[in-house]
Amino acid sequence: MSELVTLTIDNREVKAAPGTSVLRAALDNGIYVPHLCDHKDLTSVGVCRVCLVEIEGRRPTVSCMTPVEEGMVVHTASEDLDKTRKINLELLVLNHDYDCQNCAQNSKCQLQDLTRYIGIDEERINAMRDPDLSWDLDQSNPYYLRDMNRCVRCGICVRTCEEVQGDECIDFAFRGIETTISVLGDKEILDSTCTTCGECVVRCPVGALVPRNAIEPTYEVETVCPFCGCGCGILVGARGDKIVSSRGIPDYPSSGGSLCVKGRYGLGFVNSPERLTTPLIRKDGELVEASWEEALSLVAEKLGQYKGDQFATIASAKCTVEDNYVIQKFTRAVMGTNNIDHCARL
Ligand code: SF4
Ligand code: SF4
Ligand code: SF4
Ligand code: SF4
Repeated sequence: MSELVTLTIDNREVKAAPGTSVLRAALDNGIYVPHLCDHKDLTSVGVCRVCLVEIEGRRPTVSCMTPVEEGMVVHTASEDLDKTRKINLELLVLNHDYDCQNCAQNSKCQLQDLTRYIGIDEERINAMRDPDLSWDLDQSNPYYLRDMNRCVRCGICVRTCEEVQGDECIDFAFRGIETTISVLGDKEILDSTCTTCGECVVRCPVGALVPRNAIEPTYEVETVCPFCGCGCGILVGARGDKIVSSRGIPDYPSSGGSLCVKGRYGLGFVNSPERLTTPLIRKDGELVEASWEEALSLVAEKLGQYKGDQFATIASAKCTVEDNYVIQKFTRAVMGTNNIDHCARL
């Protein structure tokens, strides 16, 4: 491992690995530097320009794009920095409505925190607003909403889709004050190649991408996604005995914190009123409720009527590995066939 670089930030000596940005070195050592477009999982791009710092011997510098250097002396607060950050923030929020009371991100929003920290001149912003400029709320996706009126053009969603998800479903579109995030052909998100993994939604720092009907859990339980053999680590959030949320376990060995649409948004079946809770037996063409004893006896009786390749099994990814082992053993050893398949292979 290369030797750590030693630098001074706000009169504190800190150490960081070579290549670390000044912003990350400060944040990792508990020194707050305002920032919006930088995310620890993504390449830094330096577009919001609110993370400016002063480095002795240089002009004010964007800290997310500046690697640490041995002996560097950094100051994160000064009157000049305050002024420049304020102008840069105002340019980002020219047409932002700050309708926080009606925003799903209220009290969890990075822009709210930044605005409190840096401050904005509302009169100056109002004079520059374009009141005719607005975007329709995109409600096409069943799991998340897109409100480009609340977007600060940080590009985190674009980089997430490309760097974390390995897709390029969304990108910057149009120019100047009309710049927005869109999909090919400026269609609704449902008409794009988006797979609804939700990775961009969890990283959006403001209320532009928010899950539909989000409910805060009162507790979370660490477990493994039940849907497929990838075995992604999930934190299932619940209120009482009802599942209300699911998110990836950060840095989980098999999934690194990522999830697909099923693990993130697909657990509604657990509390669904349509979920089968008793066996059903078809009688005179109608499915009717039956006891477990009745159902299992019927299955045992019918199984005796088949043998070898007359029989096939479709196993389920929602069963445990042990259950699936028993199913294949039963199919091969008892029923005498290799006709066995599994939904996770589809
Ligand atoms: S995105 Fe943030 S600042 Fe904007 S309205 Fe929502 S909570 Fe308020
Ligand atoms: S939608 Fe969110 S993540 Fe994407 S650019 Fe806008 S503010 Fe950033
Ligand atoms: S939900 Fe996933 S696939 Fe869709 S745009 Fe966001 S990151 Fe890309
Ligand atoms: S269904 Fe998706 S989230 Fe669940 S284990 Fe498979 S890849 Fe991971």
